[in-house]
Amino acid sequence: MSAPAQLACGQCGAALAFVGVRTATCPYCGSSSFLPRTPADERPDPRFAVAFASDAKVARQEVMRWLGARRLFTDRTLRTAQVEDLRGVYVPAYLYSAVARTTYTVQIGERYTETVDVPIGSRPGTEPSDVMPLPWPGKRRRKPKPGPATEQRVVTRTEYRALRGRHFTYVTDVLVSASGGLARHELARLQPYDYRQLRRFSPALVAGFVQEDYSLAASAVEQASRAAAAEQVASKLRRFLPGDSYSDLEIRTQTQWESLDPVLVPVWILGVRYRADRPPLRVLVNGQTNVVVGRPPLVWWKVLVALGLVAGLALLTWRVLS
Ligand SMILES: [Zn+2]
Repeated sequence: MSAPAQLACGQCGAALAFVGVRTATCPYCGSSSFLPRTPADERPDPRFAVAFASDAKVARQEVMRWLGARRLFTDRTLRTAQVEDLRGVYVPAYLYSAVARTTYTVQIGERYTETVDVPIGSRPGTEPSDVMPLPWPGKRRRKPKPGPATEQRVVTRTEYRALRGRHFTYVTDVLVSASGGLARHELARLQPYDYRQLRRFSPALVAGFVQEDYSLAASAVEQASRAAAAEQVASKLRRFLPGDSYSDLEIRTQTQWESLDPVLVPVWILGVRYRADRPPLRVLVNGQTNVVVGRPPLVWWKVLVALGLVAGLALLTWRVLS
């Protein structure tokens, strides 16, 4: 399959193709200066793509709703801002999957209560602390001879026991950006995409949209993909650890049977122009789920006034109740 004419943005360097697109400006930086570009050998062609599920009108409405929900603490001019330059871009990425073998060691904490003798009238929290854990939760320690000047009090303690284990899983759906204009963390915030809707790539699928070409070869994202897969395993493991708490968790993950598929994912990219003297606010919309991602500029005095009001109310409530 031969790629359409390749252009590189003269400002940010993103490799772009415009098939059936009316205005050829860079969706990432707005530049209209382009340089011809010869496709590099090690850059792949996309194999699969997630298609846009909605049109620009729906994306625009979602952004207006998102702006409306944030207008309390943002610049007043955002209320009347114009959503301009809304562009649908097929962003290049790699979809990584692998078999992950994990070993881990951890200290699992179990809470138990115990009755202890303390001097009468001593403050709570000054009970004698047990440094040595008990062999079983709930087991009573031999009580010292009760003297006339002590009382009994129930305290909660945590007993730790060592646990080691193995975990074996198939990691899928790790998406790593290979874009020149969209950073890895920006794409991460737009996830998840539903990969059951993945289609085999064809030029007809992306016609009418901007298609960005791969800026990174597969070898350049291998490390990042493995790290993301290991993090996925670790977060799953942390959720399923037994006990009431844990400490000293050490995880070692090795991956096998890796695959790294070049896929295109749909992203609406737009600039919201709210002040003539500021650069437009960049907002991203997941082209499949319509999830909106961006950092609206906060007006700090509004945030501070709100925090002051909350603190004042809390103080008032405390005074009334005490
Ligand atoms: Zn650019």
